[in-house]
Amino acid sequence: MHFFLTYVEEIGFRFSPFPEMDKHFFKKDTEFLNIGLPLAFLETIVPKTMSKHNIKEKLNKKFKFQGNSSGLRGCEWQKAGNMTGSVDFEGGDKTGDFDLYIRGHQITENELERLAVQIKADPEAIKRLVHMRVLMGWGEWIPAVRLEGKRWRCQRCGETELEEWPGVWGMMETCRSCSSLGASSSQQVSYRDKRGLGKETEPVCFDLQPSLTLAQKRASSQVLEFVRHSQLNEALLWAACGAGKTEVCFTSAAWALKEGKSVLFAAPRQDVIHDVAPRLQRNFPGLQFQVLSGRNPVKYQKGTLVLATTHQILRFYQAFDLVFLDEMDAFPYKGSRILQWGLKQALSAGGKILYLTATPSEAVLRRNNEEGKNLIRLPARYHRYPLPVPEWLKFRFLPEKPKLTENLIVWLQNMVSQGVTIIFVPKISWVLPLVNYLRIKYPGWRIEGSYSSDPARKQKIEGLVKGNYCLFICTSILERGVTIPNAQVIVLAADHPVFDERALVQMAGRAGRTKEHPVGMVLFVSGRKIPAVFKAINWIKEQNSFADNLGLID
Ligand SMILES: [Zn+2]
Repeated sequence: MHFFLTYVEEIGFRFSPFPEMDKHFFKKDTEFLNIGLPLAFLETIVPKTMSKHNIKEKLNKKFKFQGNSSGLRGCEWQKAGNMTGSVDFEGGDKTGDFDLYIRGHQITENELERLAVQIKADPEAIKRLVHMRVLMGWGEWIPAVRLEGKRWRCQRCGETELEEWPGVWGMMETCRSCSSLGASSSQQVSYRDKRGLGKETEPVCFDLQPSLTLAQKRASSQVLEFVRHSQLNEALLWAACGAGKTEVCFTSAAWALKEGKSVLFAAPRQDVIHDVAPRLQRNFPGLQFQVLSGRNPVKYQKGTLVLATTHQILRFYQAFDLVFLDEMDAFPYKGSRILQWGLKQALSAGGKILYLTATPSEAVLRRNNEEGKNLIRLPARYHRYPLPVPEWLKFRFLPEKPKLTENLIVWLQNMVSQGVTIIFVPKISWVLPLVNYLRIKYPGWRIEGSYSSDPARKQKIEGLVKGNYCLFICTSILERGVTIPNAQVIVLAADHPVFDERALVQMAGRAGRTKEHPVGMVLFVSGRKIPAVFKAINWIKEQNSFADNLGLID
């Protein structure tokens, strides 16, 4: 989209893609320089104090400087004409819900076209509708990649390491970091809505199912206290694996929605989002909420409750009053500069974030260290059984010569007799040799293996959950989220650098999750008992004793 420099009497200079709309809106004579330019370019050359005369001079100089000797030939100040056709202020047949789709969003011009396709509207008409909202002061046009001081920054993801290429209007900057959401460059503009997502109070039907356990109730009331009364903007919910931390947030979410606040449930992985969606539906019957993940092609939805992957959050701007971020320590959010930046940008001024995790990093724990204030603990599973404490066995497995010692074989046979046994290995290249070795050794067992790039991974995991295998060998793909009934866990090479103490706690957390099978065995196997192995075991023991002291486990 190209913008014109406009001058409206008593209002001054503005940048507008539709000068005749400005004239119509302000009901004043409007002049514009009749050359359409990229907004990023206009922003870099138009000084704060200016007169009509020196603007043209300046533009001319800059244009020549870029190597175009024709300058701004034919460029003149021109009076804006009358607007033809009408712009729907309040929304008509096709655009009645328009504001519900764009509130709290930051939308690139390409995405506006995508929205037009979704709501079956003319893309040009959509741009005019959006510009009307800019004139009303509800939002602004910004360059998708903007010069801030001396540095270009992608306004969607905050990236400053950009791809540069020469263009007619100087160097053009393109962001690759958020390209999965469509192009973002200094040639393009975005509409940034400033109204937030919530505000109108609405009746919310909230029906908590199933009801909370004692441990969950305790944590839930601490979350509500944080959301309603705390002066702090951030808190951490540290929960045992499989303790039902999501449900602990529902009461606070219901309170916020009734207050007219907007609420975001976010997680780095799509699986988590699609797992939480039916639970929200059950607990908030009849409530319309948004579900945004790479899997869902409909990106513009209605509802002040949003469920989204951390990538999809980049579509929002100061939209949410309350954010629950699950699995803050999981890939791809962990260590991602752009996703962390995007989350902060999506939070409204004064908004609050509750981070949820089973395995907080030391830095996060240090930051949130006062229980009841900004650290909320949920140390017990809903079935009131303690977390299975891992045992350690000294043995160094060599994938090139797959072989298990007598000791480990006794463990393995015992575990398989108890339930489906998962063997975690540190590398993809270990999976097949181990599967083959064990299939030969135990021809009667149903043995399968998988890893992240396995094309049959999804079906195999479905089979595993259904109980089709008695032994499953995999990399960290099952480390989080999945509940496999009656799982027993072996971590082979627990001292491998890919398994830190958090990964070990997560893998151990696959055992004993269900009410029908609340106990399970966990075995860490390694040649050395390194600190990560100690720490993981101690961490689990500490959760159990903390829960025991509070009377939350039997
Ligand atoms: Zn970007």
